[in-house]
Amino acid sequence: MSDLVIIGGGLAGLSLSILCARKGMNVILIEKSSYPKHKVCGEYISKESLHFLNHLGINTKSLQLPNIDTFVLTSHHGLSATCKLDIGGIGISRYLLDKLLADIARNEGVKIYEQTRVTSVDYIDDRYTIETHNKETFYTAQCVGAYGRISGLQSPQSQSGKSYIGVKYHVDRGPAKNEIEIHNFEAGYCGISAIEDDKYCLCYLAKAEPLKEMKGNIDQFEEEVIFKNKYLKERFNSRKIIDRVATSQLQFGIHSEPLSYPLLGDAAGFIPPITGNGMSLAFRSALALYQTLINHPKNNTLLSENKRYINQYLKRRIQQGIFLQDLLFIQNQYFNKALMYGLVTIPGLLKIMSKQATGEEFRV
Ligand SMILES: Cc1cc2nc3c(=O)[nH]c(=O)nc-3n(C[C@H](O)[C@H](O)[C@H](O)COP(=O)(O)OP(=O)(O)OC[C@H]3O[C@@H](n4cnc5c(N)ncnc54)[C@H](O)[C@@H]3O)c2cc1C
Repeated sequence: MSDLVIIGGGLAGLSLSILCARKGMNVILIEKSSYPKHKVCGEYISKESLHFLNHLGINTKSLQLPNIDTFVLTSHHGLSATCKLDIGGIGISRYLLDKLLADIARNEGVKIYEQTRVTSVDYIDDRYTIETHNKETFYTAQCVGAYGRISGLQSPQSQSGKSYIGVKYHVDRGPAKNEIEIHNFEAGYCGISAIEDDKYCLCYLAKAEPLKEMKGNIDQFEEEVIFKNKYLKERFNSRKIIDRVATSQLQFGIHSEPLSYPLLGDAAGFIPPITGNGMSLAFRSALALYQTLINHPKNNTLLSENKRYINQYLKRRIQQGIFLQDLLFIQNQYFNKALMYGLVTIPGLLKIMSKQATGEEFRV
């Protein structure tokens, strides 16, 4: 019987595990894959999380991570706009970040089970019973779902028809290290920015439908759709690929299905990557739950506070993100041109738009 079992060892689960272990709790974290691992992610972390990351034990200064303070937006019509970011961000690969956090968690006494997939959770008589694919059973006073977008434990989002794919490369060339570029193309957008060790993360999100029509052929999709943006074509053609990962079934919005345990990060709700904020929301949700857990450890309070966070804070941030993403997805070429023209010619407009994507810095 442990104090807390966390299902899923991504950013939300690992950061909650570290905070709780430091408070003397007996924490178990169950992760279906293992560390280190490449994940589809733009790998740009908004500086709203900087203090929190340092508090967890990630020394962002000594890692010499790129400091990103400039935003460049281009479109397939050949227009481009630039602005300074409000608080900016840093670049770090998920391969490195998740591994560093897992190491910190282990050092703090968290028991991590890798290659272990949770298959069911039951809450009976004030106790959770958690079963895994290899028939292990865990009993715990508290359980948290930090299993990301797809876990097999809750039903998928019900936004049928609006599904997206994500593809990520690590490449050896990109923009200036202080810049993040977002390149718009007909079916999506692609972000490129620097990460550690002189590498760059090139990651795009696209509507699933056009790729399906090409029978999932990513090379053909890039050639025929993405390269219509001349800036993006240049970036793709001048890079050497270090590694590539892809994911599908991306859908945006909050999860409203009632469950017997609280949810963190993407499991609670998935925000469009255009905001560069999913990771910060994962950290923020872990901190919010931790603060409730140490003050009011009763199951009912945890669940109601978690619902409140999701419905009052997360929902608004996700809606703002969907609004921004939908602007980029509008197919009408006159609108798209007018939007880009406005962003290029009206001083401050791009900055106002990018500010919509960011939250306030949060501290422990
Ligand atoms: C294309 C794309 C680009 C993005 N770009 C950015 C960006 O630039 N900046 C940003 O801040 N955010 C970005 N995001 C969002 C960001 O990646 C996520 O918001 C973040 O990873 C959420 O962290 P998490 O801990 O909730 O989930 P995850 O990191 O997904 O972790 C969940 C973990 O749970 C495990 N798991 C799942 N099911 C089970 C199970 N049944 N049992 C045990 N373990 C399980 C998984 O293996 C996984 O390790 C992007 C997302 C996409 C798709």
